[in-house]
Amino acid sequence: MIYLDHAATAPIPRAVADAMYEVLTEQYGNPSSQYPFGGSMKKRTEDWRRAVAALLDCPAEGLYFTSCGTEGDNWALRAAAWQNRHVGKHIVTTAVEHSAVLECCKWLEREGYEVTYLSPEPDGSLSAARVLEAVRPDTAAVSVMLVNNELGTVHPVADIARGLAARNSKALLHTDAVQGLGAFSARALGADFVTVSAHKIGGPKGIGALYIGPRVRNPRPLLAGGGQERGLRAGTEATAQMAGFARAAELRLERREQNRAHLEALHAAALEKLLAIPDMISIGAGTAPHILAVSLAGWPSQNIVNDLGSQGICISAGSACHQGKPSHVVAALKLPKRAAAGVIRLSFGPETTEAEIDACAQALRRHRDTRMPML
Ligand code: PLP
Repeated sequence: MIYLDHAATAPIPRAVADAMYEVLTEQYGNPSSQYPFGGSMKKRTEDWRRAVAALLDCPAEGLYFTSCGTEGDNWALRAAAWQNRHVGKHIVTTAVEHSAVLECCKWLEREGYEVTYLSPEPDGSLSAARVLEAVRPDTAAVSVMLVNNELGTVHPVADIARGLAARNSKALLHTDAVQGLGAFSARALGADFVTVSAHKIGGPKGIGALYIGPRVRNPRPLLAGGGQERGLRAGTEATAQMAGFARAAELRLERREQNRAHLEALHAAALEKLLAIPDMISIGAGTAPHILAVSLAGWPSQNIVNDLGSQGICISAGSACHQGKPSHVVAALKLPKRAAAGVIRLSFGPETTEAEIDACAQALRRHRDTRMPML
């Protein structure tokens, strides 16, 4: 199999699986238990928190484990809206957020919030100035993702954070940084909430984390219960997932520079090989090195994904979370019909090789040469 869909989920390195196995089979105590077998797990949860915080470059005491990136997005928006319930009921976000943010915004709309959804430029970019212009005195929260999962575009979150302080110092800033984990510093971003997820970096599915900064006073929990995570995120700690997340974070931190160089080289090589195929065009001004969006203009992307899938090559037509429905991200770019129809995403990880990219490019060329385009 050739796996070029790391933005959907990443393979788990052996060292991560081993770390989880040890916790599952030997260190299975509940961190809340009073005897040493439990107490030692409590200490380990703090070690794991520190390991993940090191990758984010944030204070460990501001980092809370969650069940996934989706939970982090929902918690952040709800906590921001709650803190600023007396500031106003306006939220600013983008039309290209992950559905975890968009659907949560729709819930908030049903509760009386007004949400401004900013559309990006045709190349997928969105300037800090446009975000800040949309901010009003009654804006409670601003939510702008760091790296778009379908295009690889990087949004200017640090500039938004700086500008927000002058425009509306009460509005809280959330960034969904799930696709950027390992490539940013939360301190440098300056957002009040930063969402991440383990399974995009070689950790297990079913665990994420939310960084909550000091401007958030008494953050409102999403779940009521047993007081875990310093009373803010109830639920018995998913210790094996935490161990796996921490080990994946350590591996990413240790190899950060070499991974980045590898991904940048792959991205450049892939773009060159794909654009050599007739009718292939590049989509968006994405600069994240692990995500590449292109379009085989005129060839429906779902057919491409199915054809390559049947040959054991895994790529994606937009986000895997959309399950075959037209992507809201591609729609927001307002591309010509044929270009929009053929948008596919290749995404890479540290394990990806140039030979795999070659095989994918050949399969795409065969598809172009042997399948009928749309009318
Ligand atoms: N945000 C972005 C940008 C994502 O790409 C994803 C996963 O696809 C999520 C949030 C949701 O993360 P999780 O799968 O951990 O719920």
